[in-house]
Amino acid sequence: MTIKKSSRLVVGSRNRKKLQEIAQLLEPHGIQVVGIADFADIPEVVEDGDTFAANAAKKASETATAINEWVLAEDSGLSVDALGGAPGVYSARFSGEDATDERNNQKLLQELAGVAPEKRGGHYTCHVAISSPAGEIRMTEEGTCRGRIIDEARGDNGFGYDPYFLIPEFHQTFGELSSTVKNQLSHRARAFQRLTPRLVRLLLSEAQI
Ligand code: IMP
Repeated sequence: MTIKKSSRLVVGSRNRKKLQEIAQLLEPHGIQVVGIADFADIPEVVEDGDTFAANAAKKASETATAINEWVLAEDSGLSVDALGGAPGVYSARFSGEDATDERNNQKLLQELAGVAPEKRGGHYTCHVAISSPAGEIRMTEEGTCRGRIIDEARGDNGFGYDPYFLIPEFHQTFGELSSTVKNQLSHRARAFQRLTPRLVRLLLSEAQI
């Protein structure tokens, strides 16, 4: 289902790469994505939940009440089997306060030093939550995508851990695969494939558009 008259939806994220992927997933359905960097005075949401679900709900709900609009938020991350599921919900700040993608990746490789290739499996998770302007969570979906962590960066596409995240079936990392392919099989793509038809119906029924 597609919304004919284009509507906008606020996405509670300041991560430009993530916003770009969400826009690519929603815009073909007539939903125009707006990031929160376009709003003044939105309080920073403290991501202190133990699960992707808790953090996504918190981001969606707190942002929605701050701006009195429908908000979509997602929390995502990488869980590596050999590290007991780390970095998990700490993916964005794995290397500490001044975390960058590069430092996070260095730390990941250090922690996996000496681990055999066949034991380097892991998965990305993306949990999406939609909040009403009153802060009520009205819809959630989750998607996962399995891969393997390799030792050398390959490709410049994507963000975060993508240059090290190999999809064995494709013999390519998310850094190498085109956005068209990543947007078919990633954790985010899978969550949005389930979410989008429901989201379109919700937005239409709420006459938000
Ligand atoms: P969040 O913005 O708090 O949800 O943090 C998500 C973090 O998980 C990012 O900063 C990345 O480190 C990692 N991550 C989530 N999704 C992806 C992806 O699609 N590719 C690479 N890294 C990702």
